[in-house]
Amino acid sequence: QSEHESPASAAAVLDGWTLVYSGKVRDLYVESSGIETADAAPSLETASRVLVVASDRVSAFDHVLEPGIPGKGALLTTLSLWWFDRLRDVPNHLVADHELVGNSVRELIPAAVAGRAMLCRTLDMYPIECVVRGYLTGSGWKEYRQSQSVCGIALPAGLQNGDRLPEPIYTPAWKAPMGQHDENISFERTVELVGAQVAAELRDLSLALFATASAIAEQAGVILADTKFEFGADRQTGVTVLADEVFTSDSSRYWDAEAWKTGTTPETRMASFDKQIVRNWLAAHWDGAGTPPVLPSEIVEQTAARYRELLERLSRA
Ligand code: ATP
Ligand code: MG
Repeated sequence: QSEHESPASAAAVLDGWTLVYSGKVRDLYVESSGIETADAAPSLETASRVLVVASDRVSAFDHVLEPGIPGKGALLTTLSLWWFDRLRDVPNHLVADHELVGNSVRELIPAAVAGRAMLCRTLDMYPIECVVRGYLTGSGWKEYRQSQSVCGIALPAGLQNGDRLPEPIYTPAWKAPMGQHDENISFERTVELVGAQVAAELRDLSLALFATASAIAEQAGVILADTKFEFGADRQTGVTVLADEVFTSDSSRYWDAEAWKTGTTPETRMASFDKQIVRNWLAAHWDGAGTPPVLPSEIVEQTAARYRELLERLSRA
C-alpha cells in the first residue's frame, strides 16, 4: 500500500491506519488492527487514539470547492497546535505523537501527513458547537436584525454589522448529524442535551478561552471576532476536554484591528484572515445552483497569503 494524495485533496491512504470519517475539511483515522474482521473493524467507538488530518480542502456555503488552498491543512494544524500550547490551563485532546520502542523513538504520525495531522485521544464528543461572539456579524447579525437578540440573548438597539458587543456572548449550536445543518440553540436547550453541570462547564470554558485568546490576538493587531469550540468527555475519567481544532481561521473570524478601526464599510472594517475572500468571490459568481465554479488562481493565492499572514502575525506577537 502506498502513501499518496490525489491532486483533488482526497483523503490520503495511510499504511497502518484506517480512514473512519471524512468531513468537509478533515479526515479521521484510527490505527488498523491488522486482523480486519467484520466485528473487529477499526472504529472511533473502540479506538483510544484518533489521527486528525487537515486537508487543503476549502468549503464555503457548505460546499467543498475546487481547487484546494495549497498549504491550508498545514497552516490550520500549526495554528491549532500554537493555540493549544498557549491554553494549557484547559485539558486538550493532544497525545504524544511518538513512542519509545526499546531504546529508539517511533514516530506515530505517518510521514505523508506530517505537519498537518494531530494525534488525539478519542473522546465522547458533546453534540454542541460552543460558539462565542465578541463582535456581531454572520448568522448573529442576521438574527439580530430580526429579533435584536442572538440565541435568546437580548442586545442593545442600533448595532451595525461588525460592531463590538458590550461583552462576549455564548451562542451554542446543536451539531447536526452528517448532511444536516447545525442549528442555533438556547443555553437551556444545551442543559437538556448534556445536563446542567456539563452545559455550564462548556459555557464557562468557552468564554474563558475566548477572553484569553482575544487578549493574545489583540497584541498581534488582530481582532478575534468569534469562534467555535468542540469539547468531549474523556472515556476513562469523564473529564471535559477541549477537542477538534482551536482558533483556526476555519473555526474563527479574525479581522485586522487597524482596518476595523478606520474602515467605513462592512467590507473595509472586516478585513479578514480567513476564507471570506472565497465566500465573497463565490457569492458574486454563483447563484447556488448545481456545482460551484472552480476558484480562479488569484483567489486561491490571496486566500493562502491571508492564512499565512495570520500565523506570522500571531507568532511574532
Ligand atoms: P463539516 O464537514 O461540517 O465540518 P465535521 O465538523 O464533522 O463536518 P470535520 O470538522 O472535517 O467535519 O471533522 C472533524 C470531526 O472530528 C468532527 O466531527 C469532530 O467532532 C471530530 N473530533 C474532533 N476531535 C475529536 C476527538 N478527540 N475525538 C473524537 N472525535 C473528534
Ligand atoms: Mg468541523
